[in-house]
Amino acid sequence: MSARRPLVIGNWKMNLDYVEGLHLVQQLGVLMKNRPVEHVEVVVAAPFVDLRSVSSIVDSERFSMSLGAQHVNANENGAHTGEISTSMLKRLNVEWVLVGHSERRVHYAMSDEIVAQTLSAVVRAGQHAVLCVGEERSIRESNTYCQYVTAQLESALGGLDEKFYNFVTVAYEPLWAIGTGVNASPEQVREMTSFLRKELRARSFTSPQVIYGGSVNAENAATLVGESDVDGFLVGGASLKAESFYAILRACDDCYAVKR
Ligand code: PEP
Repeated sequence: MSARRPLVIGNWKMNLDYVEGLHLVQQLGVLMKNRPVEHVEVVVAAPFVDLRSVSSIVDSERFSMSLGAQHVNANENGAHTGEISTSMLKRLNVEWVLVGHSERRVHYAMSDEIVAQTLSAVVRAGQHAVLCVGEERSIRESNTYCQYVTAQLESALGGLDEKFYNFVTVAYEPLWAIGTGVNASPEQVREMTSFLRKELRARSFTSPQVIYGGSVNAENAATLVGESDVDGFLVGGASLKAESFYAILRACDDCYAVKR
C-alpha cells in the first residue's frame, strides 16, 4: 500500500445538474457525518457547471470531502472556446483533476501528448492529478497490457519533473471494465496495482499511489479492496447515488482501518 492516504473519487461524468448534484452531496455529507469515513480521502468529480454550488455546500456544511474536475485544458487562458483552465478550477476549490480518462482519450481525441501537457498543467497549478491508464479488451486478450500501460505511463510522465510526483495518482482503468458491469477480478487488479507501483518506483516515485476503476459498486467493493492491495477506487455509475457511494467508502474505510 502507498504511504499516502487512500483515495476514493466519484466520477459523475455528464450526469446530475447542479440541483441534483447538491442533493447528492447533501445526502452523502449527512451519511458521512453520522458515521465518518476516517481513513480515506473522499473526492467528488462533478461536471464543471456543478462545481460552484457543490463547493459552496461542502464549505458551508464542512463536509469531509474534496472537489474534483473530470478534465481541464492544458493552456492557461486564451482562445480555447468551450474549455476551462486550472486557475478557474482553483478559484472553485477544486483540488483534484482526472487526466486522460479513457472517455476523453477515445471519444474526444485526447492524444498521449495532450494527456502529458494536461498532467503537467495540473500539477504545476498545485492540484492533484489522477492519471488514468488502461487497456481495451483486445489488448488484454493479446496479453500485451503491461507494455500498453507502461507506454501510457512513459508518455504521460516522461517530461515531468520528479518534484511533482507526489501530486500524481495513477488510476488503472481497463476499458473493458468501465461502465460494463464487469469488474476486473481482485487478482487482475492486484497484478496491475503491483506492476504499476513497480514501474512508478523505477521512475523514482517514492510513494506511488495506484487506484482501480471499472464497475466498482456497493457489492464488490469490499472484496476488491480486501483482496487486491489497491490504494482506492475511481467510481463512475455507483457514485451517482449517495447510498452506493457511501457503501464503497465504508468498505474502504473498514479495510484500511485494519491495514494501517
Ligand atoms: C469511470 O468512469 O472511471 C468508471 C470507472 O466508471 P464505472 O464505475 O461506471 O465503471
